[in-house]
Amino acid sequence: MRIGILALQGAFAEHEKMLSCIGVSSFEIRQRKKLEQSFDGLIIPGGESTVQGKLLRELNLFDPLKEQILSGLPVFGTCAGLLLLAKEIKNDNRVHFAVMNITAVRNAYGRQLGSFYTESEFKNIGKIPMTFIRAPYIESVHGNTEILASVDGKIVAAKEGNMLVTAFHPELNNDLSVHKYFIKMVKEHKGIHI
Ligand code: GLN
Repeated sequence: MRIGILALQGAFAEHEKMLSCIGVSSFEIRQRKKLEQSFDGLIIPGGESTVQGKLLRELNLFDPLKEQILSGLPVFGTCAGLLLLAKEIKNDNRVHFAVMNITAVRNAYGRQLGSFYTESEFKNIGKIPMTFIRAPYIESVHGNTEILASVDGKIVAAKEGNMLVTAFHPELNNDLSVHKYFIKMVKEHKGIHI
C-alpha cells in the first residue's frame, strides 16, 4: 500500500512521519508526473487553502486528482485540506475540489482563538488530542456525510464515503489513531479485510 501526500505547501512532512510510524509508505506529490504511479489513498495537508488551490491548478494536478477522488480514491483532508474538499465555503466565494457534502467556515475561530488545543471524542476511537490552527469548522453536513467529532457544538471531523476530513491537525500530536482510521478506510477500499 502507498499513500500520496500532496506536498505543494503546508504540513505534509508531519503526515509522512505519522504514516511511517504505522508502517505505511508514502510519497510526495509535487508534480503531475508523480501521478503516473498508482497509489491507494491521498492526504491533503493543512496550510493555506487558497495557495494550495492555486498551485493545484497551475501544476495541472487539479483535474486528475479530482477525477480520482470522484472515482473513489480514499482521501483525507486536514484543515486546509478540508476546505479544498468542501462543496461550500460559507465565507469564501471560491471552492476547489468541491466534492464533499459539507458547508465549511474558513478561519472560523477568529483572532482570539486562532490556535488552540483540546481533547475530545472521535466516533469509534474515543478521546483524542486535537490541535487547531486558524482552523475552519463544518457548519453543516449534507447527503450521506457522517459527523465524527464536534467541539463546543461545532463539527470538526466528518466522513462521506471515501472522504475523511478533520478541522484539526492529527499529524501534530503523537496520537496515531486518526491516521489508522484512514488507513482502515484505504484497506477496506482495496478489499483487504482486517
Ligand atoms: N486558515 C487556513 C485556510 O484558510 C487553514 C489553516 C490550516 O490549514 N491550519 O486555508
